[in-house]
Amino acid sequence: MAALDPATQQALAARLRFYRDLGLTEFYRRPVDLSSTSNVGALEPALRPAISQEPTIPTRKPIFTPSPVTAAVPSADRASALRIIRDEIGDCTRCALHKGRNKIVFADGSPDARLMFVGEGPGADEDAQGLPFVGKAGQLLNNMIGAMGLKREDVYIANVVKCRPPGNRTPEPDEANTCAPFLFQQIDVVRPEVIVALGATASTYLLGQRQPLAGLRGRIHSFRGSKLIVTYHPAFLLRDPRQKKEAWADLQIAMRELGLQAPSRG
Ligand code: URA
Repeated sequence: MAALDPATQQALAARLRFYRDLGLTEFYRRPVDLSSTSNVGALEPALRPAISQEPTIPTRKPIFTPSPVTAAVPSADRASALRIIRDEIGDCTRCALHKGRNKIVFADGSPDARLMFVGEGPGADEDAQGLPFVGKAGQLLNNMIGAMGLKREDVYIANVVKCRPPGNRTPEPDEANTCAPFLFQQIDVVRPEVIVALGATASTYLLGQRQPLAGLRGRIHSFRGSKLIVTYHPAFLLRDPRQKKEAWADLQIAMRELGLQAPSRG
């Protein structure tokens, strides 16, 4: 297949990220009959052979079934139980993402958190620092946590994959399915009352079903004994700040379940 030039690749990647944040994750290429396309001449030349030679993208593998929930860990033992999971991950080479990573991003926050946020995977800042959500999206997440009347140290933050996907692409199903069992172990140790899934990748691998965010938001799901709420990824909110109101409505569901009141602004 002919390579796309870097500008076209970037534009396509940005468009795909935007659709993904909306929860639209399944794409396929329609076969194009170039002879009947009136504006073929307007097509980027590199695209023409690609379109005619590759009619469909293979369907994604089904999402795996998570292991049973493990026994509760007493509060005093949670930090060491999390360290054991981290040690088990080790200097991981279980999937291809290890090739491009600098640091494994395990998690951040309190082992006793009542509220947990799950994102997709580390970006460049997270990969450099070894901590989740420390870049621009992380600043917005910190603001969202503050708006709930909490501090970052009060909550637990982790991702579906612990190594940065190249170019911040969506993790492939085999990468997410390889890494997610460690996330599930972390959830079993922390046992948050409420989990907030940030964006489509988190909701897909937590709920085990690929469904548009629109159909998942606004209600309480259940996952491994926790209540699960789905909202937009902060990176999407940075691109479309008009949706912050919607995200705030989702966070208010979490607050209600936790008995939290928003701090008064004074
Ligand atoms: N986006 C994520 O999904 N996770 C991070 O840790 C940072 C950005």
